[in-house]
Amino acid sequence: MLEHLSEQPKDKILALMAAYREDPRDTKVDLGVGVYKDASGNTPVMRAVKEAERRLVKEQTSKAYTGLAGDPAFSNAMIDLVLDDTVARNRIAAVATPGGTGAIRQALELIKLAAPKATVWLSDPTWPNHPSILKYLGMKTRSYRYFNNETRSVDYIGMLTDLAAVMPGDIVLLHGCCHNPTGANLTLPQWDGLIKLLQERSVTPFIDIAYQGFGDGLEKDAAATRKVAAAFDNVLIAASCSKNFGIYRERTGVLMAIAKNESVRDVAQQNLAFLNRQNFSFPPDHGARIVTTILTDPELRADWEAELEEVRLSMLDLRTQLAGELRRLSNSDRFDFLAEHRGMFSRLGTSPEKVEKLRADHGIYMVGDSRMNIAGLNADTIPVLAQAIIDAGI
Ligand code: PMP
Repeated sequence: MLEHLSEQPKDKILALMAAYREDPRDTKVDLGVGVYKDASGNTPVMRAVKEAERRLVKEQTSKAYTGLAGDPAFSNAMIDLVLDDTVARNRIAAVATPGGTGAIRQALELIKLAAPKATVWLSDPTWPNHPSILKYLGMKTRSYRYFNNETRSVDYIGMLTDLAAVMPGDIVLLHGCCHNPTGANLTLPQWDGLIKLLQERSVTPFIDIAYQGFGDGLEKDAAATRKVAAAFDNVLIAASCSKNFGIYRERTGVLMAIAKNESVRDVAQQNLAFLNRQNFSFPPDHGARIVTTILTDPELRADWEAELEEVRLSMLDLRTQLAGELRRLSNSDRFDFLAEHRGMFSRLGTSPEKVEKLRADHGIYMVGDSRMNIAGLNADTIPVLAQAIIDAGI
């Protein structure tokens, strides 16, 4: 049987990580994989996470199964964090999932059950796992323009023009904040315009929010998601706790499905639990419990928010430094977009050949589409990257 398998396409980011590990140069710089790194290149366990784990070890008396939807306290805490009180609770179905990826996967499976003919619209570019999972599930997809390679900001006109072609009942996948891979985001007035168009076309928005707290702060990063949630009868929201709690390997996420009313919510809730049961039965609990502990304990929460803010500001500082250095070296403002982008990534907007040149000549590793992880930089490597960008003629 197994001899009938064919090779799967290699994950480009994981292949890049392997190439980086094998590079003997001690001046090499890793701007590839999407994990936060501090100035010394570590991905630390956050203080509040350590403390929550300590408490769990001490106080937890059982590891028996939870419910198929996970612990409701976790869903409630995450609904609070992402939506605050924008939507009545009796309209929101929610399940814990293995990471944000698990939430996206369950959302797409829910769409398959509820609207098998719908097309799912993706930004071009988007996180590569979006199209990959959709293809694997055999679902129809189309893409809408998102990034202007000249200005390195959102191609808003292109986006609205392409989305004018959606059919009623289609799904439009949007990044709630900190767009991956570009770092370019809509302004709030632009979100208003987009919402209007999507309302006119009777589509269901599907928000992927994986970086809340990494852009402009916890509340501001949720603002667009809340606007969308308040404006439609049906909204799907996949939220990841991997980045903002730094618990990547614990696989912690939540899928929320906002329904028109309580009775539709109840059926949606039952379907979400069913899908969990079919795919993995009970969702992982450890990370979810860490998150619940932190979000519901005022002291731990304050400490988590403070550390998350440090992380956010350190990335903003790196952005400002890099843009400043490039302004100096290029004697122009053409790299100022780096300071405007938000989140962990920026798309440099250059060719794969130049990205390869940066790797070959300078040991600088970024994804082929010129996405760089800003958190991979530090005060020593910023001048190196800036000079390399100029030398490569970018
Ligand atoms: N969505 C986006 C846009 C992401 O960048 C990521 C992480 N790379 C995820 C979802 C999923 O994250 P995880 O499954 O690790 O929680």
